[in-house]
Formats: sequence, structure tokens, C-alpha cells
Amino acid sequence: MKLATNLNRLGTETAFSVLAEAKALEAKGNPMIHLGLGQPDFKTPKHVVDAAKKALDDGHHGYVMSNGIPECRQAVTRWIKRRYNADVDFERILIMPGGKPTMSYAIQCFGEPGAEIIHPTPAFPIYESMINYTGSTPVPYDLTEDKDLKFNPEKILSLITDKTRLLILINPNNPTGSFVEKESIDVLAEGLKKYPHVTILSDEIYSRQIFDNKEMPSFFHYPELRERLIVLEGWSKAYSMTGWRLGWSFWPKELVGHVNKLLINSVSCVNAAAQFAGIAALDGPDDSIDEMMVKFTQRRDLIHKGLNELPGVECSLPGGAFYAFPKVTGTGMSGAEFCKKAMHEAGVAIVPGTAFGKTCNDYVRFSFAASRDNISQALENIKKMLG
Ligand code: PMP
Repeated sequence: MKLATNLNRLGTETAFSVLAEAKALEAKGNPMIHLGLGQPDFKTPKHVVDAAKKALDDGHHGYVMSNGIPECRQAVTRWIKRRYNADVDFERILIMPGGKPTMSYAIQCFGEPGAEIIHPTPAFPIYESMINYTGSTPVPYDLTEDKDLKFNPEKILSLITDKTRLLILINPNNPTGSFVEKESIDVLAEGLKKYPHVTILSDEIYSRQIFDNKEMPSFFHYPELRERLIVLEGWSKAYSMTGWRLGWSFWPKELVGHVNKLLINSVSCVNAAAQFAGIAALDGPDDSIDEMMVKFTQRRDLIHKGLNELPGVECSLPGGAFYAFPKVTGTGMSGAEFCKKAMHEAGVAIVPGTAFGKTCNDYVRFSFAASRDNISQALENIKKMLG
């Protein structure tokens, strides 16, 4: 078979191989605590599930518009108005099968040999994978240079050249759990005004998972940048709907038609029942999110304290999402060695930092989307493992 060469440049998500290895060990009778995959461990709220059931009962079983049913796109614009007081044209909202397609379509819109794309490292690995796939040049900014793993707006601005087409930001970040507050985003937004050739892709999928009552500094707050703004959002994390494959994104006017064609050429449309569920989630009560955040905050505090008590482990305080990203070199092991030992000796599945970026040899990612009992047990097992 003669295959396309760019296939060899595609990366993957190591969290899925960690899961497969952990499941194989479990099948052999080894107990395992799963702190690998990043998905909330709560049920989708009942009123949301009921809306999907009703849609199917009402006969919404066929193809729908590729860019999403208008009711769902309008529910998104209402949500944006409520949360960020921004008026946006619903024609610029596209409903996606999850958050992920927005990143791959956005990168396909700009990526080609010679184009530069600025991105965070470490980051959700599909960003770098897709940049490499398109043959464009990845220009990373390294979050591990900061003790709290936050990005520095001046550093990002200094990386912009004439060839920069796209700047990727993820806030709160996966895998670091770091959260950058509005003051820094203001500096970045102000600086970006000088570079009108740069489009911004703001991944805000964790906008509802921010700790300590801080506000989400969404890029919707900067109307002057909106003509070159892509916002990646969705239902997966906020409403515990990862498996529903439902997301939404906001696009520059100029890109809407192109991205709609990418949708038609790949997935056709998102199933209607999920979109009706999405409307119920956005328009409905936020109680489930509030309850989830109470639990996530308790878990965050538990894991942050527990990790810092382990010999040789240092962990900054996660400000958002549900990940802790400790440095483990004080144990004498690399992140990869630590994860291997944790899986085989402590029965804890976690992901090595290198799954998210080349500079993360010293780190591992713990997802704390798990019960407090499981987190405590995992910490106990690792403590024993470290002797
Ligand atoms: N962005 C980030 C930063 C993520 O961590 C994830 C999923 N882990 C996504 C986007 C993709 O979300 P979805 O599962 O809705 O495709």
C-alpha cells in the first residue's frame, strides 16, 4: 500500500492507551484506580437526558442542518449573552460532534507548509498532532517555565512573526489545571490588537470548571478581536456529556462557510437528539454544575495536599479543569517511570507528562474526576510505592 506521508505525522491521545493497559491488567485480576482519562464521573443531568429522549419520541431521527439546528445555535447565543454579556450573530455558531472537531477544523483552515501556528506546551495532544499533520510549523510556548504552569502574555506576543496565522490558547489548561486570570488575558488581548493577521483560537471547554469563584476570562469579552476569533466550547465537561459527542464553536464570518463544508465533507451533521439535549442543558438550571464544582473543589484540595506530602513530588494548585500536574523528579524517576511503577505496583492509572509535550519529562497528570475514596486510596498506594 502506498499511503499519504502526512499520516505518519499524526499523533494520538496517550490517555486512551493508558486506559487500555489498565483495563488489561484489571482483566487479569489486578485492582486499578483510574485517574487517567479526563472526564467527569457524574451522570448527565436528568432534564438533559429527558430532552434527548423526547426528541427521539417526537421523531427527530433524521439528518439535520450541517451547521446545527437553529434552536440549538440560538440557545448558544443566549448563553453567551447571559454569561459574557456579548451579542453574537447565531450564523457564526456551528454545532460540532464534540469539542475536538473545532480544533482540527481550525487548524485545517490555516495549516500548510510555511504557516506558523503558536500553541501551548504541554497541551491537549491533538493540537500538536494536527499542526504537524498539516505540515505547518508548530511554535510552542512552554508552560513549564512558570512555577504555576501559567502562560505569559508577553512571551506569547514575542513569538508572533509575519508567518503566524493562528494562536492557540487553552484556559483553563489540560493537562496542567492552570488557570490564567483576566488581568493577563487583558494584556494579551491588548497586544494582539497590533497583529491583525493573527487569528485566535480560544479553547474554553473548561469554562465552567474554575475554582475559588473566579470568573472565566472569555475572549468574548474583547469585541475588537471578535472578527478573528474562534472559540471552542461544548457540553462534554460542564454537563458530563463526553460520550454524547456534542460541542459548539464561534467562528469569524469569513470561515463559517469553509468550516460548514469541512463538516459536510466529514460528519454531515450532529444527531438531533443530542442537540435538543444541548438546548435543555444551556437553558436549564445550573444546579448540577454547582454540585459538581463543590465535589471537584474537595477533590482538588485533597489531591493537591496529598501529592505535596509525597516525598519528591511537587504540585502547584490547580485553578481550573480537573487535573493535577505534579513534578516527580524528586523521586529519582522520570514521569514515564513513575507512571509505569504506579500502574504495576500501586494499581493507579495516570498519564506521563510527555503525552502532552516534549518538555514534560519530569511531570505526570492525575485526573481528579474520581471519588474522594479513590483519590485517597491512590495517594496511599503511591505513598507505599515510594517507600
Ligand atoms: N479541549 C481540551 C483542552 C480538552 O481537554 C478536550 C477533551 N479532553 C477537548 C478540547 C475535547 O473535548 P470533546 O471531548 O468534547 O471533544
